[in-house]
Amino acid sequence: MEIKKVVVIGSGTMGCGIAAQLCNAKIPVTLLDLTTEISEKARERIYKSRPPLLIDKSKIENIGIGNINDDFGIVSEADWIVEAVVERIDIKHSIYEKIFKERKSGSIVSSNTSSIPIKVLSEKLSENEKKDFCITHFFNPVRYMDLLEIVKSPNNNLEKINLLKKFCEEDLGKGTIICNDTPGFLGNRIGVYAMQVAMTEAFKMKLTIEEADAVFGRPMGIPKTGVFGLYDLIGIDLMADVLKSFIKELPESDKFQIVAKEIPLVKKLIETGYTGRKGKGGFYRMNKINNKKVLESINLETGEYSSSQKFNLGSEKMDIQNIINRDDKYGKYAWSVISKIIKYSSSLVPGITDKFNDIDEAMRLGFNWTKGPFEILKEIGVKNFFEKIATFENNDFLKNLSQTKNEDFYGERQQYTKLETLGKIKPKALKLDKNKSAEIYRFDDFNIVEFTTKANALDYESMDSLKNATDKPLIIINESMQFSAGVNLSYAMNFADKGDFKSIEKFVKYFQETCKHLKYSKYPVVSAPSGLVLGGGFEVLSQSNFVASHTNIVIGLVETMVGLIPAGGGCKEMLWRWSQSEEAKINPDYAPLKVFDIIGYAKTATSPIEAEPLKYLKPEDQKVMSRNSLLSVSKKILENNQSFTPPTECTFNLSGNVVKEKMIKLLEKLYNDKIILDHGIQVGTELANVLSGGNTSIDKTLTEDDLFQLELDAFMRLIQTQKTQDRIKHTLSTGKPLIN
Ligand code: NAD
Repeated sequence: MEIKKVVVIGSGTMGCGIAAQLCNAKIPVTLLDLTTEISEKARERIYKSRPPLLIDKSKIENIGIGNINDDFGIVSEADWIVEAVVERIDIKHSIYEKIFKERKSGSIVSSNTSSIPIKVLSEKLSENEKKDFCITHFFNPVRYMDLLEIVKSPNNNLEKINLLKKFCEEDLGKGTIICNDTPGFLGNRIGVYAMQVAMTEAFKMKLTIEEADAVFGRPMGIPKTGVFGLYDLIGIDLMADVLKSFIKELPESDKFQIVAKEIPLVKKLIETGYTGRKGKGGFYRMNKINNKKVLESINLETGEYSSSQKFNLGSEKMDIQNIINRDDKYGKYAWSVISKIIKYSSSLVPGITDKFNDIDEAMRLGFNWTKGPFEILKEIGVKNFFEKIATFENNDFLKNLSQTKNEDFYGERQQYTKLETLGKIKPKALKLDKNKSAEIYRFDDFNIVEFTTKANALDYESMDSLKNATDKPLIIINESMQFSAGVNLSYAMNFADKGDFKSIEKFVKYFQETCKHLKYSKYPVVSAPSGLVLGGGFEVLSQSNFVASHTNIVIGLVETMVGLIPAGGGCKEMLWRWSQSEEAKINPDYAPLKVFDIIGYAKTATSPIEAEPLKYLKPEDQKVMSRNSLLSVSKKILENNQSFTPPTECTFNLSGNVVKEKMIKLLEKLYNDKIILDHGIQVGTELANVLSGGNTSIDKTLTEDDLFQLELDAFMRLIQTQKTQDRIKHTLSTGKPLIN
């Protein structure tokens, strides 16, 4: 059996997301709802969604629509029918009755429920029907959330469940974990418990919300929204509903009950419309004081808001060991929270899943934790952990571990998938060379470089690693979400603040040299990006010989937004790509003008399909739906290119002043229309100077080094302007570019 056609019933938030992801995987899919009007509106929402649910918006018509009365016949053609209607058991039961009457024998039927157990969902089905019924619990937004839980029942035909898993993993690109029919399944059971522990302990230990978010965040490998920030993001009222469902479903004795009790302040927030970011605010809120926006935070004891105070745990690198060993209230809070999470998670093995490793993976895929509770336990150290904890009743996992004291209990990551992932092969490297910004994993036939900074921002050390890893074929790939958000701007600004522009120049030159080295060294280089591929990140990618790109990327040269121009070969590489087009052969100014438009407006693409027309990606670059497959696709590229020879160096014939004047005219128009100001003119003129080839003419041939030099000179002039420095500082402090 193969999944070739799918019907999704219910075209709300989740039905839309699931249908769009099927469309992304080029699987024919039909969305049915109560009326065709509702599913038509749903399709419009998919088209307009931001961030986009579709990889290629032009394929929207491939999602068929209809209603459950006139169009239900389509169910008989489907290999998989996904029910994603409202969370009401009576409605779900009546839909199943219809589906099982209509479906073809052997097709899979699944529900996207987040809280109703399989045994309840399937109570009206025959034994035979139960064999083909399971839960497929996708997370919102489906395209971007990696986790999918398949909840099986003892009735299921395991072969079929495994087939569905393989399809969801390889075709839909989801990290697919199979689990048992228990409340909240894996991700939400542990994730929501963790949030509740972090919240109740913060109340108990009288921490401010900023303090709690700083501890229950980066030091623990948890996203920086922490607990209160995440509560606001999810919605405080929605969390209250989720808790009610857990209280109802779980036995009285479950430790979840202790942390799920209603908190008076939370109740008051919901009653007064403070439901989080979608409401008037939540634990944090934006207030306007004297016409200025001020971020405020709530006092957990009084319920009053006051201006939010940034809280810093200290300058040293805070990891789990550092934080739990601190002898202050933050150390105590961290230990209290993490030890409870470890105890609770381990007490649920094998009830919720036979494999403890899957709990960690659910937290990594579904909640963006860098490590799950068991890997944190490994990091704390088994001996250390048992010395610190007082008791652990009813916990076979910990009982066993306390006897074996096996520090290596963890084994490899990502055991849920058969695919060879980066997480799995890293521990098998022959040698690991690391510096503060990147790691080189050395294998027999190839090397891997993984960047390790925040958002994988690039600096001198990242370049060092790339350069030192080209003694064999090289794959640049990351376990974390982003490929690279670009050059580390605070690294550059530290020099600028001291007036040390020589060091900035030295860095940019080294960046250029490294990228050139990647392109022309003896062995092939593959970049395997996902997430952000911006600025310097794109420059590394575009000067690699091959690309295996995940379909979820945001790619582009965005330097002009901070008053700079790309200077690591970005201008040069884009010029080269565009100069290979048919139009460029007729009109020598075609390529420079195109690139001027793309870089000038800092255009970005949100998928490989959008990236190709901009030439951020090439048609021959591989596009991969499953992030877990990026490594094997990259290895295959190396295998297929064993007789690789580096490309010949490219040269450029540019018309100098002729095309530069055209660019200046465009800038003047923008200036007159008040779209850009003086500084915009300055940045645009520098960009024009590079892309026109500087002081050259069409009959003069420029080398790549000439282009690198033009980029460097322009960059150095710009970074010394106050306006550019102000823009960079604004972006660093707010995470957003300064508009005008
Ligand atoms: P929603 O309210 O956005 O959409 C539900 C859709 O079902 C609506 O379009 C409604 O018209 C349709 N519907 C209602 N009765 C129907 C019927 N008899 N036949 C056909 N369609 C019918 O809901 P949602 O958020 O998309 O949730 C759908 C399911 O997914 C629920 O079971 C929910 O628990 C689960 N879930 C939701 C999320 C989330 O973040 N929203 C996450 C995971 C799981």
